[in-house]
Amino acid sequence: MFCPRCGKSEQLPETYCRRCGLFLPNLSKPAKRESPPEEHLRANKVLNALTIVVSFTLAILLYSILAFRPNTHPLIYVTAGLLIAMGSWHIQTFIRTLKLTKQWKRRSRFSEPGGALPGSPAAVESISTAKLLDQVDVVNTHPPSVTENTTKHLTKHKS
Ligand SMILES: [Zn+2]
Repeated sequence: MFCPRCGKSEQLPETYCRRCGLFLPNLSKPAKRESPPEEHLRANKVLNALTIVVSFTLAILLYSILAFRPNTHPLIYVTAGLLIAMGSWHIQTFIRTLKLTKQWKRRSRFSEPGGALPGSPAAVESISTAKLLDQVDVVNTHPPSVTENTTKHLTKHKS
């Protein structure tokens, strides 16, 4: 490939230009797409629902087939208990994801397109940096001692 800045030919992608040092990205490789939050929420809900169904079904099967027999191993009860705990945990995660989806929809309805959502990381960051950082002082960039030492000789020459 050619360097887009200096035009040097026969170069490998994903390396730096041998003449000017510009990074040459691989243009044939598709750029990674960031999935929107709604997609993560939807995936969470589906996976949660699946985990709930599977863990409760397995717990019921364990209890009905293997448990309450004269020679039942205690690990059967432990496993069934763990499955029920896991299912219950995923029920509360599922409910929280539903609430989060609702909150997200409400917030994106009120915010302007392209603007940072109220309370979103971008909005919080813009507020905090505005408060923390002072304006850049381009005039007094040197510490006082430096200017003192350089101007000392100037006044000596004058007198
Ligand atoms: Zn170049």
